Amino acid sequence: MNNPGDTYDVLVIGGGPAGLAAALSAQQSGLRVAIVDDNPGLGGQIWRGDQHKPGTPEAAQWLRRVATAQVKFISGAYVYEQPEPGLLLAETFEGRRELGYQKLILATGARERFLPFPGWTLPGVAGAGGLQALVKSGLPMAGKKIVVAGTGPLLLAVAAYLQKQSANVLLIAEQASQLLSFGLSLWRWPSKIFQAIQLKRELAGIRHLTNCWVESAHGDNRLQRITLRHGQKTWDVACDYLACGFHLVPNVEVAVFFGCELQEGVVQVDELQATTVPGIYCAGEATGIGGLELSLVEGQIAGFAATNQVQQARALFAERDKLQQFANLLNRTFALRDELKRLPQPDTIVCRCEDVSFARAEKYPEWRAAKLHTRCGMGPCQGRICGPALEFLLHWQPESVRPPVFPVKVGNLIRDAGSLIEQEQ
Ligand SMILES: Cc1cc2nc3c(=O)[nH]c(=O)nc-3n(C[C@H](O)[C@H](O)[C@H](O)COP(=O)(O)OP(=O)(O)OC[C@H]3O[C@@H](n4cnc5c(N)ncnc54)[C@H](O)[C@@H]3O)c2cc1C
Repeated sequence: MNNPGDTYDVLVIGGGPAGLAAALSAQQSGLRVAIVDDNPGLGGQIWRGDQHKPGTPEAAQWLRRVATAQVKFISGAYVYEQPEPGLLLAETFEGRRELGYQKLILATGARERFLPFPGWTLPGVAGAGGLQALVKSGLPMAGKKIVVAGTGPLLLAVAAYLQKQSANVLLIAEQASQLLSFGLSLWRWPSKIFQAIQLKRELAGIRHLTNCWVESAHGDNRLQRITLRHGQKTWDVACDYLACGFHLVPNVEVAVFFGCELQEGVVQVDELQATTVPGIYCAGEATGIGGLELSLVEGQIAGFAATNQVQQARALFAERDKLQQFANLLNRTFALRDELKRLPQPDTIVCRCEDVSFARAEKYPEWRAAKLHTRCGMGPCQGRICGPALEFLLHWQPESVRPPVFPVKVGNLIRDAGSLIEQEQ
């Protein structure tokens, strides 16, 4: 039985921008609201670590608002199971924690998409956002030669950040080709034009090539150089780090496990951000990759809707629709090109947890067979890295999600099994 103090009218999973906005809107109803996040601090991918020294006035404002509001923050708790409707299990450093709720808002965000190419597992090759996170937690970058590659606007944000940390950013290699028409379309979103101009200024002096991607990375024990392709031309660049990511993938595992339906790989929601499961709402990147501003607006709508403040939710619909159109443009612009499917060679590792090569994986028509024969996707990350890559490379459809949603300590599972046996007796 969970502690009655751990039961909330509204429980938000995820303390990123969408979760913060949802909790603050819900809290205006006077109900008991909590945010649970697996990280020690609030802020999600973009504002993590900003609590003591916010990177932007916007981050400062949202983090200050949530700190002074009546919102409980349950930190370092990873939600992995729902034994019954209204009750969640989360793993913490101290062990298992039970959390009760009346309404649930999922704001589980997104992660980077990685695509395998020869040498992508070498030390020195990292995700673009991953390298940024390492630098934020202290990895020195001064004078390091870095290539930022892959696709999506995150590459620009990361390159600008690394340059500010005195790194020597040699090149941004963007696989997409339609950046000029993307730039020209921005007149419909004035705030985005302002951001683009600011980024362009910050990136002054860094070479930026479109239609360009990394074919392979080389080095004995760590990265020494990469081979790039631009049209018919290939050439090598010596570098210390390659920051490489292919846009983002929504984190939908928790939603799928709770029975929420997906539409084209993202959580399906109605105009009030309600999922197909009564009482469960979803906001932010899990409903589709759309960026910070859309996450904030969706979060507010979900928070208002979950607490019957429907008028306040409706007042934000027009803003959300406009930002949604920007998200659609973003996803069309940074769609992956087919040539990337030819990057992995037979001996390229695709599942890095279980060391499964591309040749071994591609023998199978779908996930289940590959899992049974090779353990592909069965390691510690549970297919969170190789899953989206193999969906793109081999068109494998994701498998059903079973508890625990994420790997947890055996001790916590044993306690679950113990309580189930007690219940049956
Ligand atoms: C690696 C990375 C770096 C990024 N860097 C930038 C950047 O520099 N600039 C920029 O403009 N945009 C950046 N983005 C995009 C930006 O994060 C999003 O646009 C926006 O922040 C999304 O907000 P969100 O609340 O939907 O998700 P997120 O910010 O991702 O927050 C989701 C939160 O939910 C938590 N969570 C998920 N599942 C569970 C669970 N089961 N139990 C407990 N907690 C859970 C996650 O740990 C996370 O803290 C980045 C994205 C990624 C993936």
